[in-house]
Parts: sequence; structure tokens; C-alpha cells
Amino acid sequence: MAMPQAATAPGPDSPGSELGDVIIEMKKVNKWYGTFHVLHDVDLQVRRGERIVICGPSGSGKSTLIRCLNQLEEHQQGEIVVDGVTLNAHMPRIDVVRREIGMVFQSFNLFPHLTALENCMLAPMKVRGLSREEAERIARTYLERVHIPEQAGKFPVQLSGGQQQRVAIARSLCMNPKIMLFDEATSALDPEMVNEVLDVMVSLAESGMTMLVVTHEMGFARRVADRVIFMDAGEIVESAPPSQFFANPQNERTRQFLGQIL
Ligand code: ADP
Ligand code: MG
Repeated sequence: MAMPQAATAPGPDSPGSELGDVIIEMKKVNKWYGTFHVLHDVDLQVRRGERIVICGPSGSGKSTLIRCLNQLEEHQQGEIVVDGVTLNAHMPRIDVVRREIGMVFQSFNLFPHLTALENCMLAPMKVRGLSREEAERIARTYLERVHIPEQAGKFPVQLSGGQQQRVAIARSLCMNPKIMLFDEATSALDPEMVNEVLDVMVSLAESGMTMLVVTHEMGFARRVADRVIFMDAGEIVESAPPSQFFANPQNERTRQFLGQIL
């Protein structure tokens, strides 16, 4: 593998030392909902293979930030480049970018009238144009990967929350995304189901997927994050490797937040 240039190469002890080139770049991004200024000068660089955990109080703009990356929300100022494509409201091929970004939400958002298997097959057939056989083969592979191959024929209502969320993850992975976004993917789950979803997320992280994960699961952050980002009032207030973020937060607002949740 080609080494990055010396000026940008992290040191041997950096958690980023095995990471690739920049896959997401946000520069001075500002966004308003009407007159409400929700994102303030957000700068963020994510490298291929990097795992980023985003935390912060409710309403701080975490969902808005990650939704701007697949243009579920539009930004009004600044630049967002995803895998070489500059995002803006008028781009003709936003679907091409979206295809490369998987997203898992707090609510599982499965199609209720389709089985787990069919939920996973739909987009590969409709969007990628795969044959039914090929889509089914891929769907079964990923249902296996999230440890529920035996649930393939069930409808969402017949599955537990944890199983539904694992189907949602499998469904995203069937599109072969380059980036996975998770927005509080475990927040709606009963406590006993949180770990079965986090375990899948951990193994995805260990497989080298580029991930941006909005979560308050700080155990997950410590275990897999290359960097933890703290947001407050629409700003990125702090960004550091977990060891530093938890042991020695630099910002008073971060310290207060960690004091409340840890
Ligand atoms: P978080 O995910 O950190 O809880 P959000 O990104 O959901 O924060 O929201 C940030 C702020 O923007 C909040 O004050 C929220 O009420 C507001 N907001 C979110 N979505 C909309 C919207 N569609 N229209 C207007 N305001 C919104
Ligand atoms: Mg949110």
C-alpha cells in the first residue's frame, strides 16, 4: 500500500496509522432550518477505514450533521465532499452518492410487508439491478453476518427489536456501501438487546468499514473508535482519540457532558 505523504502521515502510535485517504471532507459547513442556525462552521475530515463516534446533548446537531453527508438534509454554506464528489442541492446524481452510504436509524424502518430476506433483497434488485438469485445470495450472506440467517422468512413484526435492527444493518450492507452511518441505532432497544446490535457494529468496525456512529454507548466508543467527537449547539467542540477524550477532555462542555453520562 502506498504510504501517505510525510506531512500528513500519522505517527506509529496514532490510532490512524492504518487508515487510508480522506473519504469525507466537510469544510466550514453551515446549515439553517428556516432561521434556526443548526450547524456552525463544521470542519470534519474522515479517512477511509476510520471509525468516528459522535456524542453530545440532545439537539446539538448530531443527526443533522450525518444526514448532510447523504443529503437527507441540505447544507447552505461550506463544502462537503464524499469520496471525491462535492455535494450540493442541485447535483443530478445524488443517488449515486447515497448508494455508497448506508444508514441505520433509531427506528428500524424496515418495510413491514416484506420478510427480512425481502427487505434485504429489494434495493440490490431495484437500485443495483441485480437478479433475484444474486440479490438473495447476497441477502443471505449478510443475514448470516448479523447472526440471524434463520429469521430470513419472518416479517418485521415477528422479530424482536434487536433482530429488526440487525436486519436493517444487513439490508444496508447488501448495497455494499463504502461508508456506514449509525444514528442512535441502539437507543430504541430494550436494554437486553443493545449488546446484540453493538456486537454486530463492533465486528463491522473490525472489518475496516468507514463508520460514523452517533451513540451514547461510551463502551463502544472506547472499544472501536479512532476518534470521538463531541458536539454542542451545532459545533464540533472536541475531537480526540478515545483514550484522550475520556481521560483528559480539553473543553469544559465536554467535561460536563461526560460527568452526566459516565
Ligand atoms: P441531535 O441529533 O443532536 O439531537 P438534531 O440534529 O436532530 O440534534 O437537531 C438539532 C437542532 O435542530 C434541534 O434544535 C432540533 O430541534 C432542530 N431540528 C432538527 N430537525 C429539524 C427540522 N427538520 N426543522 C427544524 N428544526 C429542526
Ligand atoms: Mg439525533
